[in-house]
Amino acid sequence: MKISDVKENIVDIYKRMSYAAMRAGREPDSVKLVAVTKKVSSESIKEAINSGLRIFGENYIQEAKAKVNELSNSYENLSWHLTGHLQSNKAKIAVQLFDLIHTLDSIDLARELNKQAERIGKIQRVLVQVNLSKEGTKHGIHEEEISPLLKKISELKNLHLGGLMTMPAFFTDPDKVRPYMRRLRYIRDGFGKKGYSLPELSMGMSGDFEVAIEEGATLVRIGTAIFGERM
Ligand SMILES: *Cc1c(COP(=O)(O)O)cnc(C)c1O
Repeated sequence: MKISDVKENIVDIYKRMSYAAMRAGREPDSVKLVAVTKKVSSESIKEAINSGLRIFGENYIQEAKAKVNELSNSYENLSWHLTGHLQSNKAKIAVQLFDLIHTLDSIDLARELNKQAERIGKIQRVLVQVNLSKEGTKHGIHEEEISPLLKKISELKNLHLGGLMTMPAFFTDPDKVRPYMRRLRYIRDGFGKKGYSLPELSMGMSGDFEVAIEEGATLVRIGTAIFGERM
């Protein structure tokens, strides 16, 4: 894939996102595109910025730090999200780099993020990562652990919980992931009835973002379909 393909890919993805939203009776602008840029060069990211993207998802702290330093000087209004797993000992850097952390998955990590956010006077936005499919990523908490974690987060003054994230197993047939997406939304709605406001649902990747949008995703995380296969 050439860097010049990035712009065309983005136009195509926005079109597909809009159609998926309309099929579900949703406003197209109720879904945000997070461009996942792990292992993607700064040159390709600049092409994406020039094509109008502003939200970038990174998976690795060191890699993110280098890119944030390089690109945030040259461009305004970039928003960096952490889409990869976070270890507590990296919480300090994470709160400096990221507007939104998609992968909060333990009470210990919640405490540590809160502590580090408090130190720098920041309210850190987070999503709780839920593991719904045993074949998927090993990260994320199981359904029965969500309630205690949400309760804990609500007590931590420097965290703001925005919603839930999931990353199901990869299936070649995107309709096979639909039950997991639907489940996440159902869980979210359940906590809504208990008084938790969880507007964001981070789900959907290159192979299944349209299904995710039909099922209520507000943040889709797309890498390969924008930038090509990762090296
Ligand atoms: C890599 C990654 C993505 C993007 O996956 P693609 O299939 O390349 O679109 C999305 N979410 C997470 C958590 C990832 O690690």
